[in-house]
Amino acid sequence: MQTKLPEAIVATTKGRRAEQILRSCVHCGFCNATCPTYELLGDELDGPRGRIYLIKEMLEAQKVESVTVTHLDRCLTCRACETTCPSGVEYSQLLEIARDYVSSNYRRDLLDRLKRLWLIRTVPYKRRFRRWAQLGRAMRWFLPKRLREMLPVASTVEALQATPPVSPSVAASSVLLLNGCVQQVTTPQVNAALRELLAARGIAVVELAEEGCCGALELHLGKEPGALATMRNLLDTLAPRLDEVDAVISTASGCGITLKDYPRLLKDDATHGKLARRLGDKLLDVGEYLLSLDLSWRKQDEVLAVALHQPCTLQHGQKLGDEARQLLQNAGYDLVAVRDEHSCCGSAGTYSLLQAKLSSQLRDRKISCLESGQPDVIATSNVGCHTHLAVAASVPVVHWIELLR
Ligand code: SF4
Ligand code: SF4
Repeated sequence: MQTKLPEAIVATTKGRRAEQILRSCVHCGFCNATCPTYELLGDELDGPRGRIYLIKEMLEAQKVESVTVTHLDRCLTCRACETTCPSGVEYSQLLEIARDYVSSNYRRDLLDRLKRLWLIRTVPYKRRFRRWAQLGRAMRWFLPKRLREMLPVASTVEALQATPPVSPSVAASSVLLLNGCVQQVTTPQVNAALRELLAARGIAVVELAEEGCCGALELHLGKEPGALATMRNLLDTLAPRLDEVDAVISTASGCGITLKDYPRLLKDDATHGKLARRLGDKLLDVGEYLLSLDLSWRKQDEVLAVALHQPCTLQHGQKLGDEARQLLQNAGYDLVAVRDEHSCCGSAGTYSLLQAKLSSQLRDRKISCLESGQPDVIATSNVGCHTHLAVAASVPVVHWIELLR
């Protein structure tokens, strides 16, 4: 694609990167075929090719039009287009630059600004988020249906903390388990199940006393300076523990993909860039880690049929997913076929709050795909998808770790 970005844009590192990505697109449109918003809305501007054009025009004109913001906001950042693109266009990095540009050069309406401010000030802080969740549950019958559906259910974690932890001095291996911010409030049973599973295998689990957010939420909302500060903060907390462990793992693929991107995001920061690379050397998705252990599994008495939901952050972002499938099959589960496995469930971080209508439509389509093979249970790998799908599925939704336990 030809570009004529002004000197003021190409003089910046981000501008040059945007130009490079824009020029790698040959405008073939193959990516539209797997874009969930293009499939749903049928509008060229709601597909990746159209969005790439809008970003090019915005940067060339150095002006943010509201129509551009509308179509960029509807993008899920699911990255299905990157998986499909034959030219290797790094669309998500272009979108990241575009969202940062919009954030600095466009004034959103008051309600939108308030929603985004509330998300940034609440969700990444587990105590604040827990208090809001408790308040929401207490007032649930006064809330609109859409908000009621989004409320995290009360935790069932206590029932799962039966196995005593393994001391690092006698452990076969040790891992640093990241708990995330949202997951600690909405689905803490997932990491409780993993702690139990690892303890039973003689693996010590190290956890951070005060673990901050990974920065994904701010990054997706185009607040890059805040996101980078959040990332540095987490790295400072992690750094003293890195040498103690063989691996750092996360059970939320949405956090995992952001953490794996730290070396790129912090490459211009001498101190934290180095820390990010040290973390990168040990960081694994929980599926990668468990598969590397070559564990044996006790077969189930009753074979459950499982529909495995592959979150976009896992399949398109981290290019993973077969690990969970293989582990579940090794443990004796029957994995049913899932239609349109590539497509997003509509959760996409804050998308379910900011684009509630599209998000519910995508969720309902995804559930019909997941339930087409008549599973007993749906298993996923990410907290956002987990709670989003659980609202409307007709079978239980769990993290696959809970099935392995
Ligand atoms: S498939 Fe790739 S090269 Fe083709 S239009 Fe989409 S992003 Fe551009
Ligand atoms: S990231 Fe997903 S929603 Fe956004 S343009 Fe690509 S395929 Fe479409």
